[in-house]
Amino acid sequence: MHTEHNISLQPFHFFASEELASYFTVLHKNEDVSDAIEWCHQQNLPFLILGSGSNVVFTKNFPGLVAKMEINGIKKLNESATEVILEVGAGENWHHFVSYCVQKGWGGLENLSLIPGTVGASPIQNIGAYGVEVQECIQQVTAFDTTTQQWIQLSNKECNFGYRTSLFKVAVKRYIITHVQFVLQKQPQLKMDYGAIRDMLHEKGIKHPNLESLSQAIIQIRTQKLPDPKILGNAGSFFKNPIVSKTQLEQLQQQFPNIIAYPISDDSYKIAAGWLIEACGWKGMKKGNVGCYEKQALVIVSYGIRSGREVYEFSEEIIHSVAQKFKIQLEREVNIY
Ligand code: FAD
Ligand code: NAP
Repeated sequence: MHTEHNISLQPFHFFASEELASYFTVLHKNEDVSDAIEWCHQQNLPFLILGSGSNVVFTKNFPGLVAKMEINGIKKLNESATEVILEVGAGENWHHFVSYCVQKGWGGLENLSLIPGTVGASPIQNIGAYGVEVQECIQQVTAFDTTTQQWIQLSNKECNFGYRTSLFKVAVKRYIITHVQFVLQKQPQLKMDYGAIRDMLHEKGIKHPNLESLSQAIIQIRTQKLPDPKILGNAGSFFKNPIVSKTQLEQLQQQFPNIIAYPISDDSYKIAAGWLIEACGWKGMKKGNVGCYEKQALVIVSYGIRSGREVYEFSEEIIHSVAQKFKIQLEREVNIY
């Protein structure tokens, strides 16, 4: 196994702050994963897997091995008249994979176009956008279980997917995902419930969307609304949308009639965290090298931070002010190290 010593993490994550990793390696194949974990056990060092670094904040140097996932490949396992089953390496770029499926006419993932990141990270927070979650297309996940030192295959059910969560997000660092199996549809049902999609299709004059035009519409919406991480470092939505009961929502609505909420089940609602943050006056605010993005309050952006600590402290202030005004404790969606 090839490791490098005292490597700057700056090129490997979207906030591009300057923390160091004591050791750094790249994982190209399954054996690299088990070798890296064995090496960490021998050295008594912690490890951290990185995909493309679009959902992490480093607040200090990492005192162990950072291993960048680059196991690639897209393999067709099965095809019927209605479905295609693909096995995809964890290091594949997520958007490239979605575009490949769209081009082939295989549906299911098109609403997740242009989400940054790798295929291997997609099950971790069960990535979602515009009314679709990746769990809807995942059949199986292959991972190395660092606790038992065994290779395992987890079925969709065993992954325990939930709203922006899964077994992998809860059992932090236990599983290293190397491959994901997807089931895609040859006669897909397009999902266009979100207002932004309907508005964009209308604006483009598209009356009968297909996989390609829906994907393009989503790419256009995202490009207009979200900061380009190459220009303004960010990790997407910094906080989860909080889930409250019907009674809690009704109490909030008495005081804040414009609060934005959507039903999740009969008795639970998700509140738009961006609305809460904006209502506290944060949207567009800049403090030092960090700010709250002017077009979407849920996104924290860097104006040239040197340490992720600056982002973390800014997020603490937002959490504090939302708690004071609404008595709601925001939780970070982004992974803090
Ligand atoms: P990383 O940031 O590298 O890692 C994230 C976490 O997963 C870390 O804890 C890491 O240790 C762990 N990890 C990564 N790969 C593996 C692996 N193979 N095995 C085990 N653990 C692993 N998310 C959404 O859900 N919906 C969106 O619409 C969305 N939009 C975004 C827009 C922007 C502009 C940005 C910057 C982010 C957005 N995100 C969104 C968040 C992010 O893109 C996803 O969470 C993505 O899946 C992260 O992939 P990554 O490879 O960059 O993961
Ligand atoms: P938006 O469309 O302005 O909507 C704000 C919030 O309201 C979103 O969080 C969304 O929940 C919810 N929402 C809107 N319409 C809904 C509907 N018809 N049914 C149920 N919930 C609805 O959000 P945005 O910031 O521009 O993002 C657009 C989509 O991309 C969202 O799905 C969002 O999750 C996703 N996105 C995610 C990230 C990330 O890092 N996680 C970053 C950028 C964009 P949901 O979030 O549950 O969809």
